[in-house]
Formats: sequence, structure tokens, C-alpha cells
Amino acid sequence: MPKPVITRFAPSPTGFLHIGGARTALFNWLYARHTGGKMLLRIEDTDRQRSTEEATAAILDGLKWLGLEWDGEPISQFARADRHRQVAEELVTKGEAYHCYATAEEIEAMREKARAEGRPPRYDGTWRDRDPREAPEGVRPVVRIKAPREGETVIHDRVQGEVRFPNKDLDDFIILRSDGSPTYMHAVVVDDHDMGVTHIIRGDDHLTNAARQALIYKAMGWEVPVMAHVPLIHGPDGSKLSKRHGALGVEAYRAMGYLPTALCNYLARLGWSHGDDEVMSIDQMVEWFELEDINKGAARFDFQKLEALNGIH
Ligand code: GLU
Repeated sequence: MPKPVITRFAPSPTGFLHIGGARTALFNWLYARHTGGKMLLRIEDTDRQRSTEEATAAILDGLKWLGLEWDGEPISQFARADRHRQVAEELVTKGEAYHCYATAEEIEAMREKARAEGRPPRYDGTWRDRDPREAPEGVRPVVRIKAPREGETVIHDRVQGEVRFPNKDLDDFIILRSDGSPTYMHAVVVDDHDMGVTHIIRGDDHLTNAARQALIYKAMGWEVPVMAHVPLIHGPDGSKLSKRHGALGVEAYRAMGYLPTALCNYLARLGWSHGDDEVMSIDQMVEWFELEDINKGAARFDFQKLEALNGIH
């Protein structure tokens, strides 16, 4: 019996529910409902400077209005920081990660040297093999993962196909900062694993993160979830979607009197092709949604089409 599908929507609560975020939530919701699985909601509030309660409330409210109800209680990423630290220390114990005491000046000198030699400015891995007893006084270490220096990491993405990353480009990235807070890269992996997420469906701006995250899964001996990186939404002119193309917040459409079903129909079509049906009911979307039908090319947001759809509903 295959495992029941568990997807998740993992917004950072730094502003309103964006059209792009709503589409990600919709795809996760459709896939979970299509397969009889669950969609979980994780609020990625680890960045305390930028996360706000108001944004969290606006995101939950926007999802409810769209009818994209999640399963269970929303999970706060920040509240899980102890668990993130525990896994980081476990990786150190396993020899898969290490404490790095390099000072800011040393790191800068390394970067300078790399630049001068025409290499990407990366941390050189010095503290992989150094004895922590040599640590300079007063420097609190970060924890870095030991990235393999040879070979490649391959992501079998349901939308993008096979994507290959040379390991030497992944470097020994930081998983725990010197103040003990986890990096985004690390927190996402620990949370997705602990929440039992089987399918990660998100914007393709996270594709390069996927390779680094795969290294953490491997280091912990955990199974990498199925990945589906959805091309971002562009404006009708092909440039990055911005305010001049129309309102970007779900809230704005609600305020303009749009119907949630019209918005869901439009968002579903932004990047997912299913026949030529003018309008789909939510039940039809659930019935027909497949990850394989998500388009590889960037979707173009067209305010007029959305307006026309709203007229039909
Ligand atoms: N919190 C991230 C964002 O809002 C998403 C992380 C993820 O889906 O892995 O872009």
C-alpha cells in the first residue's frame, strides 16, 4: 500500500496572501484532496524580524475565504526551534556536520581569495578537520553540513524532470547560526520530515534549495519527499509579476467583490492545463488534478482573463 499523501503549504508570514502563494496552496490542496490525503499548514515564522501576527491572520483568512482548508492545527516553525537544534547536534555527532569557529574576518578573507582566483566565494571547509580545542576565545560556532565535494545531487522533480547539481557548488552551508537559531534550509527539512510530508509542491525559486535540503535528508538517513517545483507567475509581458500587472494580494480581489471560485479557477489554470473547459467546478478540479500536468514554462497572469472568469461565475 503506498503511503497516504501529505502535502503542506508553508508561507512566511511577512505580508498578505499573495496570488503566487495562493496558487501554491491551491495546488497542494488539490493534490491532497485528489489523492485522499492531507494538506498541512506550516507558518514559517522563524525570521522574527519580518514575521507578524497580522500577516499570519491574513494568510489564514485568505485560505479560508478561498475554501482551501488545511488539516489539523497550523504549525509554527519558530516553536520547533529546539527540535531543529537537536537535529543539528545529532548531525554533528554522526560526523555529518561540524562546528565552525571561523570569524567574520576569516570568512571575508576566504571570499576575497576565492574571488581573486576566479572561484565562487565559498567557505573553504577549514573547520571540518580542525580540533575544536583550537577554537579562538569568545567565538560562538555555527554548525555547517559536510557537503560532498565530488559527484552530483540529483532531484527527480515531477514538474522540472531530472535536475542535476554538482556537489562542489553546494558547499558546507550553515544549518545552525551562532545564536542557536536554525537556518531556513535546515528548519524546512526537519519540519517536513517530522510532519510526514510526502510531497513538496512549491515555487521553482526553491529549486536550488532542494539540492541542499536533499543533502540534509541524506545525512539524517531520511527519505526525500517527492518534489514538484512550479514555475513562478509572470506578467502578461513575460516579466516578473509586479503591481503594475494588477493587484497581487488575494485580499484585494475579495475586496473588489470577486468570487472565490472564480479566483480558484483562474489560479488553477495559471500553470496547470486541463483540457479546454471554460469553467471547472471545485469537484472537477479535485478529480482531474495531476502533478504531471503542471506546465514547465512560466504562467502569465492576465488580469482581463481573470475579470472575464469572474463574470462567468
Ligand atoms: N516559506 C517559504 C516561502 O514562503 C516556502 C518554503 C517551502 O515551501 O519550502 O517562500
